[in-house]
Amino acid sequence: MSDCLFCKIAAGQIPAAVVYEDEHMLAFEDINPQAPTHTLVIPRTHLPDLAAAEPDHEALLGRLLAAAARVAAQKGLSSYRTVINNGSGAGQTVFHLHLHLLAGRPMGWPPG
Ligand code: AMP
Ligand code: ZN
Repeated sequence: MSDCLFCKIAAGQIPAAVVYEDEHMLAFEDINPQAPTHTLVIPRTHLPDLAAAEPDHEALLGRLLAAAARVAAQKGLSSYRTVINNGSGAGQTVFHLHLHLLAGRPMGWPPG
């Protein structure tokens, strides 16, 4: 997707504070952090949102969660929250699938 912000970050065309990367996934610090730790994990493959995932994306979705756990372990986090906003009504603003990794402050429940 040539016009996608996160595709451009994955391609290295827009700078980001990358904290983890592998063949399939990239993790970088959120530019507008909502907690002391606020890291985004994205697949290198463009999917607009979670709802766009097809059965053949199951491995990708598993890798997304596994990468989030790896980043959390790398950061020494024992308590953290992972969030995927799907659709503008749920707060999604960037339409390239991404997982928020949040930590470092009390997390309210239910989430807002
Ligand atoms: P969402 O609202 O779930 O779509 O999350 C999009 C996130 O991307 C927000 O938390 C933004 O602060 C973050 N964001 C937007 N642009 C950038 C950027 N250039 N680098 C890092 N994070 C970004
Ligand atoms: Zn994209």
